[in-house]
Amino acid sequence: MMSDTTTQQLSLADKTILVTGAGDGIGRTLSKTLADQGATVILLSRSQEKLETLYDEIEAQHPGKVIIHPLDFSKASDADYKQLAESLNEQFECLDGLVHNAALLGARSPIEFYPEKEWAQLMEVNVNAVFYLTRALLPALQRSKDARMLFISSSVGRKGRAYWGAYSVSKFALEGLMQTLADELAATSKIRVNSLNPGGTRTAMRRDAYPGENPESVPTPESLMPAYLFLFSPEAQAIHGQALDAREFDAEKWLADYSN
Ligand code: NDP
Repeated sequence: MMSDTTTQQLSLADKTILVTGAGDGIGRTLSKTLADQGATVILLSRSQEKLETLYDEIEAQHPGKVIIHPLDFSKASDADYKQLAESLNEQFECLDGLVHNAALLGARSPIEFYPEKEWAQLMEVNVNAVFYLTRALLPALQRSKDARMLFISSSVGRKGRAYWGAYSVSKFALEGLMQTLADELAATSKIRVNSLNPGGTRTAMRRDAYPGENPESVPTPESLMPAYLFLFSPEAQAIHGQALDAREFDAEKWLADYSN
């Protein structure tokens, strides 16, 4: 594990990082953690109310280091993503981090009976929005001296599992997008791109997926933060194009196994 000292020493004071799905679950905890490490955080997700509540919490602790941008990916158009990019360009010199964390779980159903409307909506949120957002924000990320992009994946995005339908397929798509982009950027850019599977985590999504489970038996979002933070550290510059598992996080092992 990364030592507490390393976590404490990580300063993100000059970093601006956008987190999607910031209003709830892992994204909420990640946004607060990044702000605690000094980053300016841009909170993006669907519910304006949840974002405003989180904004108040972060602003009280770290004045002037947080902005919110409500956007429903299921309804957003290319123009919305361009407008977001223009608005960020006016406020920041560059973007140092983009965490594609927002996602829908959708129906658990055999493919034969998967509801087509739900399939289309899930793909819009979990895949198409990630493409639009990536394309719109790449110029701002290219202006950073050391930018990071994280695609939040799942174990079912690496090995298919019966009845996980569109969710599983959407996470496979993210892995493909990550690999394609990582290959494109490897030689031409300082942006480091990886996917990260958080593993089972105590959130609303997990409760929906496993309603009979005792939530107390599932690790908290807080327990994931050393792995997420490490990927924003200077050492992690060496890690690119990798499919990582937060539950297997060990900084030295990751550097040995995944450095270019
Ligand atoms: P939650 O359901 O708790 O939170 C999901 C977030 O995504 C919410 O903030 C939600 O916004 C946002 N979101 C959903 N739909 C939209 C939309 N249409 N437009 C914009 N934002 C939207 O999920 P988790 O925190 O559990 O999951 C975070 C990530 O981790 C996901 O990518 C998930 O697939 C992945 N993951 C989670 C696991 C787990 O056990 N929890 C296991 C493996 C992977 P709002 O709050 O505004 O509604």
